[in-house]
Amino acid sequence: MSGLILDIEQMSACYGRVEALIGVSLQVAHGEIVTVVGANGAGKSTLLHSILGMVSPANGRITFAGADITRWPIHRRIDTGLVLVPEGRRILVSMTIEENLLLGAHMRQDKTAVRREIDGIYDRFPNLAQRRNHDASCLSGGEQQMLALGRAMLAKPQLLMMDEPSLGLSPLFVSKLFELIREYNREGLSVLLIEQNTANALRIAHRATVLELGRVALEGNAAAIAGSARLQEAYLGGA
Ligand code: ATP
Repeated sequence: MSGLILDIEQMSACYGRVEALIGVSLQVAHGEIVTVVGANGAGKSTLLHSILGMVSPANGRITFAGADITRWPIHRRIDTGLVLVPEGRRILVSMTIEENLLLGAHMRQDKTAVRREIDGIYDRFPNLAQRRNHDASCLSGGEQQMLALGRAMLAKPQLLMMDEPSLGLSPLFVSKLFELIREYNREGLSVLLIEQNTANALRIAHRATVLELGRVALEGNAAAIAGSARLQEAYLGGA
């Protein structure tokens, strides 16, 4: 059995004549945090959407949990444990915090375990616990991101994918969020993290891929990538 939860081989994707991904290969091992960083338009969202099946790749193969899912419909991928926290969180603001959490677990039959996990989420996020019966509209952007993460965890991901989770958050919430991702990872969660917040993403990731104009420009150990002169120049404001 392979140690990989996700294996993308030579994937290309286009929007008409725009080549958004060109021969991209990327792997996530069980229990790893892999981050994909890159400038606007580099192809990060297209990569996530291709993995989830929202974009059909022109070429390449995607293997998830040992199965070739390249041609699978979206719902089958989700049922197998591919869970996305989308950009902008997509919290339902006219529903309560508790109802939003329950949505994450709507496919599950093990209601006792769901209740226990929701209580576990409230322990981790006291801000959510205090307002569990209030509409989610009362939450700040940072708290909504925590709710989106909790909701995703209730879907029992085999791989959690997050699209720019730190976008628009205060520095305090960014560090809280990244600490939580790391905590879940220590408990065994595999994570694919798409970020423009390169410095923070590289700090928590084990490995990293840098996309430039749809191609893999750099990839490897996150600490080594963070220290590379090319990345320092391009994303971290100089060495
Ligand atoms: P951002 O952080 O700005 O979302 P990104 O790295 O996620 O950038 P993508 O959104 O994947 O990049 O875009 C990759 C390329 O594909 C860009 O040239 C973009 O303009 C193009 N593109 C993305 N979505 C579409 C679409 N629906 N139709 C046409 N072109 C698109």
